[in-house]
Amino acid sequence: MALQFHALHFYNRLYRELTGIQHPINMEQHFCQSCGMPLTDENRGTNADGSRSEDYCTYCYQSGKFTQDFTMNQMVEFCLQFLDQMNAHTGQKLTPLQAKEQMLQYFPHLKRWKEADNHSIL
Ligand SMILES: [Zn+2]
Repeated sequence: MALQFHALHFYNRLYRELTGIQHPINMEQHFCQSCGMPLTDENRGTNADGSRSEDYCTYCYQSGKFTQDFTMNQMVEFCLQFLDQMNAHTGQKLTPLQAKEQMLQYFPHLKRWKEADNHSIL
């Protein structure tokens, strides 16, 4: 699926940027269902009972609650903060508009925003 691959590529880079870890992401990889970051054993959030979340990363979800009371669009803006950093390291020249368009297509597929169902795509 083209869209999924595109987002995968995007977040593979973002992930390397944030963690400094070269982590090959495959299609079976789980992604945070809030911010779209690839989930690893190290960056999973925690449920209310202290167990590891299957769906969300530690930046988005701790002790069974979302760390930020974002709308989908706010989450997109939040993730765009990392764009300059990402471009600098990868040599890619993704404009904020291009990155934003990718995320606005990708995020509605994530569980957190799918359930809310009150986002606007544009
Ligand atoms: Zn997340």
